[in-house]
Amino acid sequence: GLDVTTRALSRSYVRGGRTIEVLRAIDLHLDPGSFTVLTGPSGAGKSTLLHLLGTLDRPTSGEILYDSLPPPDKRDRDLAAFRRTKIGFIFQFHHLLPEFSALENVLMPTWISGKDREDTSWARTLLEEVGLGDRLDHKPSELSGGEQQRVAVARALVMKPALLLADEPTGNLDSHTGLEVFTLLQTLSSRFHMTCLVTTHNETLAKKADRHIAMDDGQIR
Ligand code: ADP
Ligand code: ADP
Repeated sequence: GLDVTTRALSRSYVRGGRTIEVLRAIDLHLDPGSFTVLTGPSGAGKSTLLHLLGTLDRPTSGEILYDSLPPPDKRDRDLAAFRRTKIGFIFQFHHLLPEFSALENVLMPTWISGKDREDTSWARTLLEEVGLGDRLDHKPSELSGGEQQRVAVARALVMKPALLLADEPTGNLDSHTGLEVFTLLQTLSSRFHMTCLVTTHNETLAKKADRHIAMDDGQIR
């Protein structure tokens, strides 16, 4: 897992001539292989923090260190490779491609990286790991909501990321299915020693994590 440290991480937006400070000097440390839940009211800055940690957005000031190093510069093609190989993302909505099977959806990141199209063994293993070993050829529309999100989990792991960022991964699921997907993420985090940061509005789930961070108004409380 990646060791992630932020130092005075700040992000502001200018809107209608006013500066809005969405993240205010956040100092956060995620231990390698740790599983952390992030909660906070809507607008607290959780998604913004995940985008920054995922190098999808850049800080206004402050920095993020991954194993003590800054990410590659954004002008550098290495930033895309860094993101693709080190970081996995899961969102509230699975964004699976409807025309493709579960197995093909999981393989998609490897195709984008130009890997051998024929090597499907790891993707198959992951689909078995998330409990879908008998659903490899199903299209997303032939799967339940929980199964679709499990495919998205397998897809997020196919590049063997050292950091997994999940923004409301259970937000679109009923509480029973949400608990199953959440527990699966915990299991995978420990199995693969993967650093995980998961946002949720569900206090019951938050209590199950090793560590719980609460955010409000751009700060950690
Ligand atoms: P959360 O995920 O906790 O609900 P967000 O990180 O989505 O919070 O948003 C925090 C604040 O940042 C909100 O007030 C939101 O309107 C603002 N914000 C997020 N992205 C942008 C943007 N691209 N431009 C302007 N304001 C933004
Ligand atoms: P600009 O486009 O404003 O000139 P750069 O792309 O050169 O900015 O980035 C400014 C600095 O911010 C660089 O040193 C870059 O490495 C650093 N940087 C970019 N993304 C991050 C990040 N996620 N965490 C910490 N530093 C970052």
